[in-house]
Amino acid sequence: MGVFRKLLPQEFLEDLSSLDVDRFFNSGRDVFIFDFDNTLGYWRSQKIEERFQLLLKKILSSNGKIIIASNGKPRQISLDGVDVIWRVRKPFTKKIKESLLSQGIDVKRVVLIGDQIFTDVLAGNLLGAYTVKVKPLSKTEFFGTKVLRVFERVLFLFLRKR
Ligand SMILES: [Mg+2]
Repeated sequence: MGVFRKLLPQEFLEDLSSLDVDRFFNSGRDVFIFDFDNTLGYWRSQKIEERFQLLLKKILSSNGKIIIASNGKPRQISLDGVDVIWRVRKPFTKKIKESLLSQGIDVKRVVLIGDQIFTDVLAGNLLGAYTVKVKPLSKTEFFGTKVLRVFERVLFLFLRKR
């Protein structure tokens, strides 16, 4: 069961805008690492969806930290006070670890939020962060991601039967 545990998020969320930020702050988690494509914005977009802006502002105004960690190619994302790391190669954790280390951030403070099991959730769990899996914003995505979705469905069917 060890392998499967790393693939399971601590939490599933239908809609990112309902992320309970206060609960995290109250439990000492104030660093939020977001996936970008199909989590904060559409695939290959540069725009954070309007309905998530309030959530992000709330984190920043509560002195929380936001890191966007994407496997995608570098693009301009305009949001003040936010770190962005491109080509992260999740589920590998090297780049995220380096970023946390350079800022002296303990992983116990980290929540990682993303729409994919085999990249986001796995990376977050390997890091030792609290992981939240959100529903992808759209069905438009990278071909390789579509393939991984099939495996996600198989995994959940398998786990449901246990
Ligand atoms: Mg994504």
